[in-house]
Amino acid sequence: MTQAKTIDCPQCGKPARIAADNPYRPFCSKRCKLVDLGDWLDESNRIPDPSGSAPGAGPADDPEGGLPH
Ligand SMILES: [Zn+2]
Repeated sequence: MTQAKTIDCPQCGKPARIAADNPYRPFCSKRCKLVDLGDWLDESNRIPDPSGSAPGAGPADDPEGGLPH
């Protein structure tokens, strides 16, 4: 009836259940999901800034703005 379809876990390569009862799909476990998420966050935090971050340069650093309006 309900076949438990499995795929290879993107994180560890073990069979991961693709079923409604697996909240961590397509990962096999909570741990793999968190590890993958951590990788993503780590990557996005590591994006090099080509313009560099010169001190005092750019109001983008302060959306509130230092301008008395
Ligand atoms: Zn896994």
